[in-house]
Amino acid sequence: MERTLAILKPDCVRKRKVGEVLRRIQEAGFRLRAMKMVTMSKTEAEGFYAVHEDKPFFDDLTDFMSSGPCVPIVLEKENAIADFRALIGATDPEEAENGTIRSDFADSIQENIVHGSDSPSNGEKEAAYFFPEHEIVANQ
Ligand code: GDP
Repeated sequence: MERTLAILKPDCVRKRKVGEVLRRIQEAGFRLRAMKMVTMSKTEAEGFYAVHEDKPFFDDLTDFMSSGPCVPIVLEKENAIADFRALIGATDPEEAENGTIRSDFADSIQENIVHGSDSPSNGEKEAAYFFPEHEIVANQ
């Protein structure tokens, strides 16, 4: 079964949309395997987004991601990576298809409510960034 790491970002928590977004994720057939609420330090946010360290928005992005609690979640489903990215929509909510989570809830390209891994190998790596394997529950 494919694994993806979702993060309900600090804007999602501030807007009190955690329940609504989780409902959509579960209704789309994703299984929750691990979940917690955590406030990342600036250094942890920089580590998570290290692939973007040369981008002009890196400092703003990591300030935002460490600005308050977020909710990392390990999800499993067949085709989890592609299906989750379809559920959330394009990075920029202006470009996200109607009915996607980002289209419905996000304010900007930066504050876009939710993260989803972009490949199966990153899904595994990013899940391990937040959860040791023993905190990821097995199939029920
Ligand atoms: P994702 O895979 O859809 O999350 O998009 P990326 O991996 O390209 O970017 C990671 C995150 O950086 C996005 O989810 C946004 O929060 C942020 N981001 C991406 N592009 C921009 C941009 O042009 N400006 C700003 N301020 N933030 C951006």
